[in-house]
Amino acid sequence: MTPQTKAYAAPSAKSPLAPFSLTRRDPLPNDVKIDILFCGVCHSDIHTARDEWGGTTFPCVPGHEIVGRVVAVGRNVKKFKEGDLAAVGCMVDACRDCHSCHENLEQFCEDVVFTYNSPDEHTGAVTYGGYSTNIVVNEDFVLRVRNDVDLAATAPLLCAGITTYSPLRHWKVGKGQTVGVVGLGGLGHMGVKFANAFGAHVILFTTSANKAQDAKRLGAHEIVISKDEDAMKAKARSCDFIVDTVSAKHDFDLYLNLLKRDGTLCLVGLAAEPISMNPFSLVRWRHGLAGSLIGGIAETQEMLDFCADRGITCDIEKIKIDYINEAYERMLRSDVKYRFVIDIASLK
Ligand code: NAP
Ligand code: ZN
Ligand code: ZN
Repeated sequence: MTPQTKAYAAPSAKSPLAPFSLTRRDPLPNDVKIDILFCGVCHSDIHTARDEWGGTTFPCVPGHEIVGRVVAVGRNVKKFKEGDLAAVGCMVDACRDCHSCHENLEQFCEDVVFTYNSPDEHTGAVTYGGYSTNIVVNEDFVLRVRNDVDLAATAPLLCAGITTYSPLRHWKVGKGQTVGVVGLGGLGHMGVKFANAFGAHVILFTTSANKAQDAKRLGAHEIVISKDEDAMKAKARSCDFIVDTVSAKHDFDLYLNLLKRDGTLCLVGLAAEPISMNPFSLVRWRHGLAGSLIGGIAETQEMLDFCADRGITCDIEKIKIDYINEAYERMLRSDVKYRFVIDIASLK
């Protein structure tokens, strides 16, 4: 069969992304075929395309913040019909029969199938993501998108949105609490918006002084430049909860010191290097260090509906597919306001 789906792929860890063609399966009885309209660019795409975590199979087609329109459905599909808007996030399948799957936490399933770079039982190769013109996904892993939302600005909710929404919900962040967000990139700017929407007092910790004005507009009540030692000391033991979205190696003691007694520092950032910290940073004030991985399908739908009700979207810069390598370089320089979204029309 001639590959029909146009895509962009990383041919190897060291080469830039370039045009590629792939074949999607014909929809099975429970599948939905989606014509992709927009795909957000997550820092995980860069980590994977450059094999920074290890385990990337090449060619690699990244992209897991997908919004599009349904163009075909299998005969058993109930949730979608041709012409509907639809979205796909970081997962396209799971075992459906383990404790995590039964508790709507498919992201923690041992057999979760991620949207890209996971073994694909249908093709025998790996899954290919949303830097492509279409995708075929089992309907249980397809999300509903309302007609009245900005589609491009909704796409990054599928990863950046749910990855910050989920820990803020899990640790029950709300009124009367002070929440720190570390890093104002794709995840961080959504962390600021959600923490504000949940009623918390929000402090943004950033390395980029030039993002202060934007941070206020996005919902931060205070901005602290993390390179300013005195400003950081002044915030010692001020936060109940911190979500750390930093994509590179950084100093954990610096941020643990910001927590009140019994506060939790929750990592969502996935720098490639192992982390280290002074044990006193945890022990002295009974601090917790935790992590969080995206969110389950039900919670992702809840988050999309919450955003549609509240008019919450991502602040984006729309790009054409041939800008992707430049976009990666700009993200590595923390120069993104605050998510690149690929207009997939530029690939067709
Ligand atoms: P991003 O848009 O590139 O934002 C990362 C931000 O981190 C930067 O804008 C910058 O913010 C800050 N930063 C970068 N280097 C830093 C350094 N050396 N020290 C301190 N701060 C630094 O990335 P993203 O897409 O939001 O992703 C962030 C991380 O989360 C990545 O590692 C990604 O793989 C991971 N991730 C995890 C999950 C999950 O489920 N846990 C899901 C998606 C992504 P300032 O300019 O404000 O300092
Ligand atoms: Zn992501
Ligand atoms: Zn499972």
